Amino acid sequence: MTPRQRLLRQITKQDNGCWIWTGARCPSGYGSIWVAGKTQYAHRLAYETHVGPIPQGLWVLHRCNNKACCNPKHLYASKSRASLEERILRKVEKQPGGCWVWRGDANQGYGQIVLSGHRRRAVHRVAYELWLEPIPKGLQVLHLCGSRRCCNPAHLVAGTASETARHMLECRRNSSKRYAGKRYLGPLQEPLLE
Ligand SMILES: [Zn+2]
Ligand SMILES: [Zn+2]
Repeated sequence: MTPRQRLLRQITKQDNGCWIWTGARCPSGYGSIWVAGKTQYAHRLAYETHVGPIPQGLWVLHRCNNKACCNPKHLYASKSRASLEERILRKVEKQPGGCWVWRGDANQGYGQIVLSGHRRRAVHRVAYELWLEPIPKGLQVLHLCGSRRCCNPAHLVAGTASETARHMLECRRNSSKRYAGKRYLGPLQEPLLE
């Protein structure tokens, strides 16, 4: 049996896309597997057997905040040892109103973060996937609070392009952004419950 087959044999695939390791775990929470005469991290083996060799000195981290997950799509290689959660929380300012305002780089008002390589990603989308679920295909991630730099998952919701347009229209109509966010909660709840 190849290492890849052995890995897949001990994985449970969840509805949220995570491939949960059901074998032994390290005290740190990461899955461990005995392969090629040594104990290896299951998620690193998943990366190597599905994506490719891990560049020297890089860490394999999770986009999904689940250390036991071995879905290669939820993994990325990074120079930084800090988890995505640590990196986001380090750069947000938690405001009394509940917003977690991103203080790092931004583009068009949206916070930006680099996971691996040089590609920048919208931090609110990364936060949505980290703390909530993978973004459903074709949907955008909207801010219920109207603050583009906000990364608080409780203020984020996935919606269609037309819902985004309607939301922005309502934001413009109402001088109070908070009020706009609250009004928007109503119509959005139905598609979310599907
Ligand atoms: Zn996962
Ligand atoms: Zn917010």
